[in-house]
Amino acid sequence: MRDLSINTKLVHAGERRDPPLGKPVATPIYATSTYTYPSMEEMDDAFTGEGGDYIYSRYGNPTVTAVQDVMAAIENGKVAVAYGSGMAAIHAALMACEVGPGTTVLASQDMYGATFDLLYKIFGPMGVKTKTADFNDLISLRTTVADLKPRVLLAETISNPLLKICDIPAVAEIAHGVGARLIVDNTFASPYLARPLDLGADLSVHSATKYLGGHADTMGGIVISNEETDYLALVGVMKLVGGVMSVWEAHQILRGTKTLGLRIERQCENARLLAARLRESERIGTVYYPDSSSNGVQILGENSGGALVTIRLKDDTREAAFRFMDALELVVRATSLGDVYTLVSHSASSSHRELSPKRRGELGITEGLVRISVGIEDIKDIIFDIENALSR
Ligand code: PLP
Repeated sequence: MRDLSINTKLVHAGERRDPPLGKPVATPIYATSTYTYPSMEEMDDAFTGEGGDYIYSRYGNPTVTAVQDVMAAIENGKVAVAYGSGMAAIHAALMACEVGPGTTVLASQDMYGATFDLLYKIFGPMGVKTKTADFNDLISLRTTVADLKPRVLLAETISNPLLKICDIPAVAEIAHGVGARLIVDNTFASPYLARPLDLGADLSVHSATKYLGGHADTMGGIVISNEETDYLALVGVMKLVGGVMSVWEAHQILRGTKTLGLRIERQCENARLLAARLRESERIGTVYYPDSSSNGVQILGENSGGALVTIRLKDDTREAAFRFMDALELVVRATSLGDVYTLVSHSASSSHRELSPKRRGELGITEGLVRISVGIEDIKDIIFDIENALSR
């Protein structure tokens, strides 16, 4: 090639190198939106999906593929597709189940608030009906499912904020009895504690923003399935709706998954100790933490109640909850979960804000309820901070 001018060199020099002979140990961040091939024929093959692989990063990117491969492996699924957030993943999972005009989604009454908003505000105008039921009452759930014949049942492994555990095998059996599919949002449990596909769910969904990322610095979502037809539909949504996972986030999530086991082990142990200690507090009316007596706790594996603890203050008012939360010095007030930091959130004014006070009351989401997502700090420091704030 003839000698190039400085402006051209600035653009092209050093780019498009061959992959090194020494394979990178950690997955590189493939920060590229598009890919070139040695010839147009090979490029054409890549487009047909026959000869090549990556074409354009909305269609696929190696760093994002690595996240998908990790997730399929740890949840024992055949396929996984990543998205830009947990909400995008839930949307894609519903689309893969072909919800459309005249179909019904039966959602657990304890779902994350934005999931209901998605169902009512986005799928509702498309003609999809959403009904809710108490998924912990299996007898009435069976009757409701037989009556409604929904296309999809949508549940969370651990409900928010009262931490009820879904009996996934029983709910899957009820769903499959009428030909419905079961989507499980496994965010609160993480793949370390529960693997919904092994338990009979058709699709498992995660907000990777939570335990998978684990450091409050990334957003992502993922859907895992065993069906090739789901994969095609999920990829279709990814390509055409375009809510893809960014390579930077994919890198953070890949990093996060490596320590998921270590973090969750510590978080669950901390949560167990915290729940036991808070049960002794005279300022707290109820401590919600799944233990061996809880319905369905075996879903989470041996001796684990998860890493979240919810408390209802004896003074069950917003004033008391805010006073307690404002008095915390170490624990962070934030509406998320699953991070290395211990976080507290006030469900009535955050995740369940859109519900009417009456509906919140029916669901037991009172004003004095505070959810604690337990982090990896030393439990002594967490307990000290919480007890100190309770005494104010
Ligand atoms: N599912 C659950 C259970 C959640 O708690 C959240 C967010 O808090 C989501 C899904 C949505 O995830 P994201 O914020 O990554 O879109």
